[in-house]
Amino acid sequence: MKTLSIVVPCYNEEPNITDFYEEILKVAPALEEQGLALTLTYVDDGSTDGTAEAVRALHTRDERVHLLRFSRNFGKEAAIYAGLEKSTGDYVVVMDCDLQDPPALLPEMYRLIAEEGYDSVGTRRVTRKGEPPVRSFFARRFYRWINRMSRTEIVDGARDYRMMTRQFADAVLEVKEYNRFSKGIFSWVGFNNKWLEYENVERRKGETKWSFRKLFVYAVEGMVAFSTAPLAFASVFGVVCCILALIFLLVIFIRALVMGDPTPGWPSMVCIILLVSGVQMFCIGIVGQYLSKTYLEVKKRPIYLLREEL
Ligand code: UDP
Ligand code: MG
Repeated sequence: MKTLSIVVPCYNEEPNITDFYEEILKVAPALEEQGLALTLTYVDDGSTDGTAEAVRALHTRDERVHLLRFSRNFGKEAAIYAGLEKSTGDYVVVMDCDLQDPPALLPEMYRLIAEEGYDSVGTRRVTRKGEPPVRSFFARRFYRWINRMSRTEIVDGARDYRMMTRQFADAVLEVKEYNRFSKGIFSWVGFNNKWLEYENVERRKGETKWSFRKLFVYAVEGMVAFSTAPLAFASVFGVVCCILALIFLLVIFIRALVMGDPTPGWPSMVCIILLVSGVQMFCIGIVGQYLSKTYLEVKKRPIYLLREEL
């Protein structure tokens, strides 16, 4: 019998831990029929509520339930990495704890891998129902831009809910970068991937962990991690500004020769200085983003630290 490891990143998900376990138990017989035994690894990403206790209670009841507990909150990306690294199954699936990733899809995902020979099966939601409209709007823009900027395809609506073979998981683990953007990494490693589509499901209990600010930072990180186009944009902008400045200089010089220089024109001068220095600061900011990521990368800090493992 083959084994499937279910990796569940959790951050303050106390009310969802047992619900999730019970939902998984409901699909377990269907998977066993397909010749697949389950193990469940909850990755407690530094929760401050009773998440770890809830998982421990499950572990005493059912030895297929495991706990990886971080020393602090390292973020979902780190939790995914830890789960892939520590789980031992022949297949691995990453799922959210809030039941937004329907466990009912698991048998079909496994069928696609086992019978049709895919290496990974990803999921994408086709609707953004139940999400604030402003958030959907910016999410759509983000996917449009990042796909223009990056050679790695980042699919709109793609979730981290994905089943993969051990080989695929090991390939993802080979990507050891500190600034992890899983949506990009899953696509970057290649292999044969299949997308399953489903309607958005709302979170069962508790609140989303993503504020608008956190999502914005995440979007910038994704762009910096998977594209160097902003850097090229900064230099193109600089060249364009130089050319414009040269043309203006020539015009002003000739005009002064022909008509003299009757007006000092300081307001326009101030505007131009402000504009150009603004553009300069913006471009330095772009360079700074890459520099700061490089700085964090060369420090080679561990992606996560464990305080408990069951
Ligand atoms: N999560 C995590 N670490 C974090 C934030 C979130 O492990 O720092 C987990 C969270 O517990 C959940 C999953 O990542 O299982 C998705 O988070 P959430 O449901 O808040 O995001 P959304 O579904 O709203 O995008
Ligand atoms: Mg969610």
